[in-house]
Amino acid sequence: MFETVTYFIAALCIIFIPYIYWKKHSGKEKKAVQLYSENLKTGYTEPVTLHPKIDPNQCIMTGACVKACPEGEILGIVKGKAQIIQPSRCIGHGACQSACPTDAISLVFGTKKRGIDIPMVKETFETNVPGIYIAGELGGMGLIRNAITQGKEAVEYIAKSLNGTRGNGTVDLAIIGAGPAGIAASLQAKKDGLSYITLEQEKDFGGTVAAFPRQKLVMTQPMDIPLYGKFKNREIQKEELIELWKQVTSQNDIQLTLQSKVESIKKEDELFSITSTSGVYKAKKVLLTIGRRGTPRKLGVQGEKTNKVTYNLLDPEQYKNKHLLVVGGGDSAVEAALRLGEQEGTTVTLSYRKDTFSRIKDKNREKIETAHQARWVNIIFNSQIESIHSDHIILNHDSKSEQIKNNYVFIFIGGELPNKFLSQIGIEMETKFGVR
Ligand SMILES: Cc1cc2nc3c(=O)[nH]c(=O)nc-3n(C[C@H](O)[C@H](O)[C@H](O)COP(=O)(O)OP(=O)(O)OC[C@H]3O[C@@H](n4cnc5c(N)ncnc54)[C@H](O)[C@@H]3O)c2cc1C
Repeated sequence: MFETVTYFIAALCIIFIPYIYWKKHSGKEKKAVQLYSENLKTGYTEPVTLHPKIDPNQCIMTGACVKACPEGEILGIVKGKAQIIQPSRCIGHGACQSACPTDAISLVFGTKKRGIDIPMVKETFETNVPGIYIAGELGGMGLIRNAITQGKEAVEYIAKSLNGTRGNGTVDLAIIGAGPAGIAASLQAKKDGLSYITLEQEKDFGGTVAAFPRQKLVMTQPMDIPLYGKFKNREIQKEELIELWKQVTSQNDIQLTLQSKVESIKKEDELFSITSTSGVYKAKKVLLTIGRRGTPRKLGVQGEKTNKVTYNLLDPEQYKNKHLLVVGGGDSAVEAALRLGEQEGTTVTLSYRKDTFSRIKDKNREKIETAHQARWVNIIFNSQIESIHSDHIILNHDSKSEQIKNNYVFIFIGGELPNKFLSQIGIEMETKFGVR
């Protein structure tokens, strides 16, 4: 009897353990295929920065790379091999590469289909334009730690190149952009006794990190922050990281000129003339730490510069019981309208200039149609915002002007990438097609 029961249990294990394993993996694969095809349909097929390239001949499907990715479902196992399923969400941590036991992963820029333009920079961070330097994600290396290290190192090289000829009524260095690279560069400039100005286009500093969702867990690696010292955490919340930068910059009296978008840089005699929305500045050297995400595209309408207008959505809960307008027809606009519509007491209008959404994910299309039918998001196609006022906006819809009650406006109409700005300055780029 005992023997029969033992055989029976063993037989069950032999059948069920592989079955459970297969079931679990086929479920994961199904989800991976679904996510990948959604990204294909919406055209989000290209990684924006450094990303993994997987050699299928070396991949033995351990799944270690999938688990190691700190950003979640970016890699998946499809047909027995690892594959990038959400390419545009990859930010180049490289954790997948270290986790792969068979060295099947290399980190590359661009893909065979679409090249990515990376500025050509020497080991001193100087570009082909003498006196103009690049650090941080703009140079191709994503991640906060890399940006901070490069911002610091670039200024060390710049300080050496100034060779004691500092001051003289103009700043030694103009730092453009106050993300992690620009903050580290400003701290290092202060440490090295340089006169400097840091110009940032946004109302707040922090760059891409400031635009992370509320309480996002930031993954990082130990790094050396100038005038602060070693930062050893591997994880920190976005708000804590920004607070740390606020403390270090204020304790060291670091001046950041906010709401100052740099529009052009020209060499005049021995100095650079930097034209920005807050004025013209003269500097001996320029360090570009402007990242790769560009500048949010503006509507150019009356009232757009007021504080009620924003170009990202960080904290939907703060907009409870408000009248809100979202402008745009892509996934970002639709997702923002949905998140705002979910908040208690909101009235959400989604205005789009075309007569239908074109390149949005199927899931978003379904959700926004349901929300529109349920009347918690009002979609107005063929409409354009005319002007923004303190308690209302004027919307032109089918050639008629309409006044709509409004407390906040969210604009999601894409952005201008920095490439044009760089080529106007004369910086040479190299197009990378899936190579390092
Ligand atoms: C969703 C997401 C999650 C991420 N998570 C992580 C993570 O967990 N860990 C990690 O290490 N990295 C993460 N990253 C990557 C990281 O945020 C970037 O690599 C890093 O912020 C790059 O720093 P940077 O200073 O080079 O550029 P940015 O942070 O992009 O800063 C550039 C700054 O320049 C300003 N600027 C641009 N143009 C101009 C102009 N013409 N004039 C004036 N100012 C200008 C911008 O407004 C911005 O403030 C993430 C990225 C994204 C998108």
